[in-house]
Amino acid sequence: MDETAVATRPVVKLRPGKGRRLAAGAPWIYADELAMDRRTKALAPGTLARLQEGERVLGLAAINTESQIAGRLLDADAGAAVDRDWFCQRLVSALQLRRMALGGTDDGSDPASFCRLVHAEGDGLPGLVVDRFGKAVVIQPNAAWIDARLEALVDGLDDAFAAQGVDRLETIVINAQSRVRRLEGLEQRLDVVRGALDGPLAVPMNGATYFADLTGGQKTGLFYDQRPNHRVAARLGAAMAGSGLPASAFDVFSHVGGFGLALLAASPALNVVAVDSSQPALDLAAAGAARMGVTVRYETRRADAFDAMAAAADAGERHGMVICDPPAFAPHKAALEAGLRAYEKTARLAARLVAPEGWLVLCSCSGAVSAEALREASAKGIRAAGRAGALVHVGRAGPDHPQHMALPETGYLKALFFRLDG
Ligand code: SAH
Repeated sequence: MDETAVATRPVVKLRPGKGRRLAAGAPWIYADELAMDRRTKALAPGTLARLQEGERVLGLAAINTESQIAGRLLDADAGAAVDRDWFCQRLVSALQLRRMALGGTDDGSDPASFCRLVHAEGDGLPGLVVDRFGKAVVIQPNAAWIDARLEALVDGLDDAFAAQGVDRLETIVINAQSRVRRLEGLEQRLDVVRGALDGPLAVPMNGATYFADLTGGQKTGLFYDQRPNHRVAARLGAAMAGSGLPASAFDVFSHVGGFGLALLAASPALNVVAVDSSQPALDLAAAGAARMGVTVRYETRRADAFDAMAAAADAGERHGMVICDPPAFAPHKAALEAGLRAYEKTARLAARLVAPEGWLVLCSCSGAVSAEALREASAKGIRAAGRAGALVHVGRAGPDHPQHMALPETGYLKALFFRLDG
């Protein structure tokens, strides 16, 4: 962006006394907090503006009056140019954070090769998600200001990778298919803007191999957020061998193999049953198992999770570990009550399948459900199944999903590890 454009940026004002979350450090301005005069309403979605409270300049905000989040604070400097250098700076910082926090890999490769590279607000890039798969990335632009600056973003990515000594990206996918884009008034599309994709990519994580479909898959093809929880489960699974517990795990809502393949990688003694309603996800999971050479120890069942759990329990199946990692049952506050009931039901059905002194792992990726609320719902369900136990560990998303300090909902993922009684 040239300097004239920066100098003539429109001014957008907070309504008097508004901007409570902004004052607490959150980078969001809701539609009812902005003074919606004709000029502001006429701004094209994604326009950058000087945000002011009266005459006091608060910073640079991206405006989209079509969205409930009408303003996103991008920079404390209202005169900052949001160009390739600006993106590069934030991306270098994001890359460095991952390299440090994800720690060493078995083969000495870059720990940031396979991870979520940008986690929106948590990385100072509101509305932007970037997942990296080696030499490929999937960009999810979930806000209008990014749609309008995709070229600068891609240039910034190239510069950041070059600055950090990382090979140039071969494949860049723009996955603009999220539900949030509808709330932003943005269209749905999927573009491969660099390179080509011929089939799913192999992703190493926790010693397992997953296959991620970067074009057709859910989210961006793989759930990196569960990495530390997969690891904890795998460690427990490995310890099950020789403990007297059945050497088997039931991985419900398995997607492309998440927990189950990590368990199989950790222990040659285990068998895993994976349940999911999506055949494409199960096909990718089976492909991962085949690549790992563990097909004989891996069974996939395409079914509704609740039906499959009830049927397995009725058939007398008992496993050393049962894992449930459902989609968000409470994606927003209005769905909280129904969501908590669904988590309780999940816990009840799953607890029946756990062998005496076995493990039950219950996850929630609902931003509206706190770890405490999930614990309560899970405990109710476990009791309703006639079981008791103790909460041993609470896991969160990995460090490649940094939470914005003032936005608790960015800490959406919880994984509760219960050990049930005999
Ligand atoms: N456990 C995975 C991520 C799970 S994502 C990991 O660790 O990577 C949630 C999964 O639940 C998706 O694959 C989706 O297909 C599946 N799903 C959603 N509703 C379902 C249902 N009613 N029964 C079975 N699977 C379901």
